[in-house]
Amino acid sequence: MASNRTFTMIKPDAFEAGNSGAILKMIEEAGFKIVAMKATQLTQEMAGKFYEVHKERPFYADLCKYMSSGPIIAAILEKDNAVEDFRALIGATNPANAAEGTIRKIFAKSIEANAVHGSDSDENAAIEGNFYFSQFERVI
Ligand code: ATP
Ligand code: MG
Repeated sequence: MASNRTFTMIKPDAFEAGNSGAILKMIEEAGFKIVAMKATQLTQEMAGKFYEVHKERPFYADLCKYMSSGPIIAAILEKDNAVEDFRALIGATNPANAAEGTIRKIFAKSIEANAVHGSDSDENAAIEGNFYFSQFERVI
């Protein structure tokens, strides 16, 4: 059975551009409930840990620099079929390929600075939520 939670970040480009509110509005209007949320900033080392699965990819070093370049918002979201539905809401990794009306189509600046993160599986949603939030911060 699909889990009902996913994890998201509003990435530095969208936070810096002042688009966090508009993005959170789209997330809520799509039926997701925010069950944990904070504004924070990653160190390069923490960004490296978060995206460790990509460590062999050519864009990894740049990605870690970019993800630690400014504040982000991290949140755990709840909805039926959360992981899949959220990936549909954010659109393709490269905004040039993202469907009309998706968050990345509207707000992303490039394939790297692509406005939001969305977990790609139930397992990773749980791992990523635990990366940012202690059990004491997840009381909802
Ligand atoms: P995310 O995991 O952030 O939700 P995603 O699952 O759509 O994005 P991944 O393949 O997991 O895409 O890549 C992680 C992130 O690495 C992307 O969101 C983007 O910021 C960056 N990235 C991916 N591919 C490239 C690329 N070819 N060039 C530069 N950056 C990239
Ligand atoms: Mg991914």
